[in-house]
Amino acid sequence: MRITEIRELDVPLAGAISNAVVSFDKHKVSLVAVFTDTVRNGRPLVGVAFNSIGRHSQGGILRERMIPRVLEADPDTLLSSTTGLLDPARVLRCALMDEKPGGHGDRAAAASAIELAVWDLLAKYHDEPVYQTIARAHDRTPLASGAPVYAAGGYYQDVDDLGRLREEIAGYLAAGYPSVKIKIGGLELGEDLRRIEAAIEVTGSGRHLAVDANGRFDRGQALKYAEALAPYGLRWYEEAVDPLDYALYSELTQAYDGVIATGENLFSTQDVGNLLRFGGLRPDRDILQMDAGLSYGLTEYAAMIALMEERGFDRTSAMPHGGHLMNLHIVVGLGLGGCEAYPGVFEPFGGYSEDCVLADGLIRPADNPGFGLEAKPGLAERIAGLVA
Ligand code: MG
Repeated sequence: MRITEIRELDVPLAGAISNAVVSFDKHKVSLVAVFTDTVRNGRPLVGVAFNSIGRHSQGGILRERMIPRVLEADPDTLLSSTTGLLDPARVLRCALMDEKPGGHGDRAAAASAIELAVWDLLAKYHDEPVYQTIARAHDRTPLASGAPVYAAGGYYQDVDDLGRLREEIAGYLAAGYPSVKIKIGGLELGEDLRRIEAAIEVTGSGRHLAVDANGRFDRGQALKYAEALAPYGLRWYEEAVDPLDYALYSELTQAYDGVIATGENLFSTQDVGNLLRFGGLRPDRDILQMDAGLSYGLTEYAAMIALMEERGFDRTSAMPHGGHLMNLHIVVGLGLGGCEAYPGVFEPFGGYSEDCVLADGLIRPADNPGFGLEAKPGLAERIAGLVA
């Protein structure tokens, strides 16, 4: 098996929504296709993936650095010595040649799109959904009945009010999502609390509502919100402060008895190690949200999970950021705590294909080969154009 070509395409996200920090109006995502000389049904076998959602497309890094490195490598150095097939870890190492350690920023997302496309390719080679390939490679039993899922929405809209928010949340519950997450930090505390109370009116309880500040608060705001949020008994309080301010997370965990969630903006095992060492997170309740699509792919992500377990966390404390098919397969394959969904937003990448079954609060991936991205309307057309 040889890589013959790697193509990438910038695809804009649909819709104009914002969290407390970012408008997604101009966001794009890198869609990547890895071609091989292996032929299936008269066509070359192609692996497809993208760099999750939320950190912009990475065409420059892919085109100028990573794709040439992989294409110029001795092809044998990219293969597993046991299977003779492409080895995601070796492809990743090659893509990262001549890169200094540390500073895990945009290149982590660029590399992840290539690495995850190799997983998609391996699953297609075996003609199986990728959660099976992932489970086998990590000696796990996949979650047979699917992954716990919640709807992530409640973004600040250009035209917004509490009625619209209530309607949005009622729609998620009607669609079968048992719990919901909304944004905070984009308005004054009093107005955010009115949004939270409106949401709880619909979910019936704070246990079915999480809130996400996207790292916006300073110390004073984070602690003020912590005090105001405590009585609601929320599912969790996410990314209150800057993702790298471990000392402040440690202080927050002492001030807030409820569940803290963070990690979606940590892109390396080293950063996760520092969060676990210095951030005060509690293995009996807190949630870690690293995202393979933003952090060098599944090779690095699996190492993060192993590190969590070493530090006393159960792997069900891992609930990746990024509600899309790739993370659904990763959660099911690695037996993690659950995943999010973005019904109706971040199209064409967000959400799941229609053949994924949502029942009893669990979502089960379909049996399409690979990640099944080709089965998702909107994305299917983009992939067809890229691989044509
Ligand atoms: Mg978040």
